[in-house]
Amino acid sequence: MKIKDVLVERWTATTVKKYFDSKNNAITKQDFTVSYPVDGCVMFRFESVPDLARSFFRMAEYYEAQSNLDLADFLDQFVDDKGEVNYFKFWDGFNITDQGFKSWLKKNPKLTQAEKVLVDAVNKHTKTKRFCIIGVAGNDPVNVNHELFHSLYYLQSDYREQVDQLLKEFKKDSAYKTMASVLKSKLDYVKNVDEEIAAYLTAGSQLKMVFGVDPQDWSKKFAAIFNATIKEHKK
Ligand SMILES: [Zn+2]
Repeated sequence: MKIKDVLVERWTATTVKKYFDSKNNAITKQDFTVSYPVDGCVMFRFESVPDLARSFFRMAEYYEAQSNLDLADFLDQFVDDKGEVNYFKFWDGFNITDQGFKSWLKKNPKLTQAEKVLVDAVNKHTKTKRFCIIGVAGNDPVNVNHELFHSLYYLQSDYREQVDQLLKEFKKDSAYKTMASVLKSKLDYVKNVDEEIAAYLTAGSQLKMVFGVDPQDWSKKFAAIFNATIKEHKK
């Protein structure tokens, strides 16, 4: 099964046109907005997926897989049999912790143009020692909630405990096995599979499409503790 069978394609006629209309321009800080959705979290919102991916992919891949990809490795890994780089079409959300960010930066002092702009912005906008940055493209609230879940899970230990407790119960449901196997086999997740399952359940949509199961009762439970925590930590 190909990635396009399980994820929503974000590369639409409009985003392609916008991207190619401005492709000769370097990425600048006008290409994204910065906001502080919850304590300790800085959100960078781009208009187009390719701009977001250019800024975040090396950092994200380093964080997820502890691998230092250069562009050639990246293309090797993500180009499909039609020559399309699906990464630029589907991955519209990223999240990185302060530790992930700092350790990537230490190991990769040679930044691309897009990365330089992002790193400057991160340094300027993160005020606390412990932080999480999230990058999104477009206005899909489900996508934003998914990434916000990750930052709350990292930043708020009370919340993390509540999520882990709920996950413990969810593991008894057969849907857990199905979701874990889809994440590992089709979306290449190696670590933090449980955290990812909780993120999908919390955001609550596209479950049927991505996983072929739709455990809405569980999704509601995860959403309830998420909404309560957001309320508490909203800036
Ligand atoms: Zn995620």
